[in-house]
Amino acid sequence: MSKIVKGIAASDGIGIAKAYLLVDPDLSFDKKQISDTDAEFARVTKAFDASIDELSTIKENAKGRLGDDELAVFDAHIAILSDPEMKKQIQGEIESKKVSAEEATSDVMNGFAETLAAMKDNKYMQERAADVKDVSKRALSHLLGKQLPNIAAIDEPVVIIAHEITPSDTSQMDKKYVKGIATDMGGRTSHAAIMSRTLRIPAIVGSESITADVQNGQTVIVDGLHGEAIVDPSADEVKEYQAKAAAFEKERAEWAKLVDAPSKSKDGKDFEICANIGTPDDVADAVKQGADGVGLFRSEFLYMGSDHMPTEDEQFQAYKKAVQGMNGKAVVVRTLDIGGDKPLTYLPLPEEMNPFLGYRAIRICLDRTEIFKTQLRALIRASEFGPIQIMFPMIATLQELLDAKKIFNECKEDLQKDHPDLGDNIKLGMMIEVPLAAIYADELAKHVDFFSIGTNDLIQYCFAADRGNDSVSYLYQPLNPALLRLIKHVITSAHAHGTKAAMCGEMAGDQLALPLLMGMGLDEYSMSATSILRTRSMMAKLDTKKCAELADKAINDCHTTPEVQKLVKDELGLD
Ligand code: PEP
Ligand code: MG
Repeated sequence: MSKIVKGIAASDGIGIAKAYLLVDPDLSFDKKQISDTDAEFARVTKAFDASIDELSTIKENAKGRLGDDELAVFDAHIAILSDPEMKKQIQGEIESKKVSAEEATSDVMNGFAETLAAMKDNKYMQERAADVKDVSKRALSHLLGKQLPNIAAIDEPVVIIAHEITPSDTSQMDKKYVKGIATDMGGRTSHAAIMSRTLRIPAIVGSESITADVQNGQTVIVDGLHGEAIVDPSADEVKEYQAKAAAFEKERAEWAKLVDAPSKSKDGKDFEICANIGTPDDVADAVKQGADGVGLFRSEFLYMGSDHMPTEDEQFQAYKKAVQGMNGKAVVVRTLDIGGDKPLTYLPLPEEMNPFLGYRAIRICLDRTEIFKTQLRALIRASEFGPIQIMFPMIATLQELLDAKKIFNECKEDLQKDHPDLGDNIKLGMMIEVPLAAIYADELAKHVDFFSIGTNDLIQYCFAADRGNDSVSYLYQPLNPALLRLIKHVITSAHAHGTKAAMCGEMAGDQLALPLLMGMGLDEYSMSATSILRTRSMMAKLDTKKCAELADKAINDCHTTPEVQKLVKDELGLD
């Protein structure tokens, strides 16, 4: 009998393949005394050789997908396994203490790792300690005849089953083989969910139990459209889902025809559908998916992908590349949004009880103005190469906005000493993520060219529910009538002052939210590039007058989220 595991729909599509559990096997062993020390050491040699072969294969498979720095890690691991001194010590341990290969390997390598980790001020050595521990795990897995999971080594179709997926896991995934992802942890707006949408791998997250419900090698269907995984399906179920997957692919092919079409409603009203990106390399996909612009460039990924604070010139090159890649379409760059769930190794921040309510984003930039100015100068310089717009994240008060604008103007005036007019065409905006800013939108709108509503944070702060905590993920309710009322207030306030209203949180790409947002008059919808064409296709079928009536009903007549969901589904004819 198949088993259905419910989760949160994180990335569209249906994937069917064998489960690949990304969970470390139990590497514990019983201690025992051995008599044949030569035979025992021969086991170590064999396990080390097998580990070297395995690492070489993984490295070979990962070439082209991983950068040189990431590939160099495999060489470092091979170098540790090839170190004659390490093996000599293990041999000495076996001979003198008559312990097993497992115990000797584990003791010697852990001892070595501890020595390295104790070099407190030496980050390089501490990282090597982590390498030695990793290598020790690999050697032990061979001694115990167990398989360590390794995403980069996957060479057949699989569904990845994991407790949680990190950005470094997703960066190693080969889309050719990874047909689906299902995790215990995470919500629709966790960065793992966002990454799976970018890679266009069907995914469900936050199932709580998938790693316990699935065995390695069992067939799993990931239904990223409905947020379900079917474990060990019957032949009939596989057939049924293959048909659903084919229908979805057909629909996707229809959407692809809209790549050069304008983003218009059925009654001819113009909107913009833009892409959210993390690095300038993502621009290519945004263009391929027909984006009307970039509505959110999460600039912190430039900082997170570097081992030092990116210099003005490094940033300038990145922004220039992004704006040139968009061929005249606007690129909205959000200034640094670190803190919260996004730390920087080279910028140690104080430990905080509530990082999401702490020292983050604009709060850091207004305090560490040298970091902020470097970024603003790079952006102003890059604006010479195309329409760059700048927006400030996490603004809570008017004073913060005015302070940020003042620093921007100082940077601009400074640069204009050599380049008159430079940066004069830059539009300035702010994110609406803090409830107070949403409430005060009618005043804030006077001071910016555009708002961009960051619903991922706005919802977590409005409902007081951590966006990464799946036990409160039921409070992620973009269709809640009270929230819709607040969003409508933001849009109406923007328009009253000629300010553009955009949205770049995940709600902008939510099918059920679309008619409501169009009805409220939201101008721009920025989302994962993979959702653009589906949204454009849906938009073309919607009439704005009917949408406005629907939004009014949702806000005035409905009192709960399920009531709004039903209202919209009935209107759209969805089940
Ligand atoms: C948001 O909060 O909605 C947003 C777009 O920003 P991020 O997801 O990067 O916090
Ligand atoms: Mg945010």
